[in-house]
Amino acid sequence: MSAGASTGRLAPSPTGRLHLGHARSFLLAWWHARSRGGRMLLRVEDLDRERVKPGYVDGVLLDLAWLGLDWDGAPLLQSVDTSPMQRAVDALLAAGVAYPCVCTRAEVAALSAPHASDDETRYPGTCRGKWRTPDGAEKATGRKSAVRLLVDDGPIEVNDGFLGARAFDVAGSVGDFVVRRRDGAFAYQLAVVVDDARTGVDEIVRGADLLPSAARQKWVQARLALPHPRWWHVPLVVDESGARLAKRRGDLSLASLRESGVDPRAVVAWAARASRQPCEDRVTAAEVLPGFALERVGRDDVVLGSKDVERLLAARA
Ligand code: GLU
Repeated sequence: MSAGASTGRLAPSPTGRLHLGHARSFLLAWWHARSRGGRMLLRVEDLDRERVKPGYVDGVLLDLAWLGLDWDGAPLLQSVDTSPMQRAVDALLAAGVAYPCVCTRAEVAALSAPHASDDETRYPGTCRGKWRTPDGAEKATGRKSAVRLLVDDGPIEVNDGFLGARAFDVAGSVGDFVVRRRDGAFAYQLAVVVDDARTGVDEIVRGADLLPSAARQKWVQARLALPHPRWWHVPLVVDESGARLAKRRGDLSLASLRESGVDPRAVVAWAARASRQPCEDRVTAAEVLPGFALERVGRDDVVLGSKDVERLLAARA
């Protein structure tokens, strides 16, 4: 590792089985860091108690090792110590840039039409300015409270190393967003920012589905006076109909490929070629490192065709 090396991370959510799309994003993140002598951390994002399933954490670790990836230090399980997140929420509340909100999800949905491009609803600011503290809100209403971050009007610009400058209207699309849920769980947007900062992550390579989240995370960072990492959002893997691979598509999960005896070097070679990194038919992740260049990755989604799937399934170790 060179002095002043960058720090990247793999941040899987154990809410289902990882698939080939995850494999490609994780390999790209790992190649980008390791080919430049950087550190690589592993953080398991297991905060969402409703969606995290028993056994998936072990499965994720096995999948990553099967792909030939490694990481520095022990994996950080996000749920083990949430006190830094609590301190961040307290700081936001104390600074008056976050506020308690007692609205239920159903109330928010009824108040606001879903945002056109996805299922998100825009919070209309019902609880803005009503109470200073969660305790005050809960005593006054007899309800549990979430904490929302105030979002100013106007675009938030993300400078992506890959896609260039992109502006997002966070206020217009989601409005003041949740940083701690009513059930006490810390929201993804806050947890990612706090954990990236406290572990020194300064380079993030991940799927393009998270690009809009980068704008929210940039806002959280600004409010907590934390540095912004460099972001690269890589195009997704889609099937022949153009749909994103889903965790529920079990047959293409890394676990089922692994368990059915597929050679992981064939999966790595597919991911490398789908990212325009020339290589042999079967390679280890480490063998791709010497010639790796993130700039070569195409800007379009990668189509995983039935021929690719057949070829991978036939590639026995
Ligand atoms: N855990 C998130 C996911 O699996 C990724 C978080 C991130 O890369 O910031 O979608």
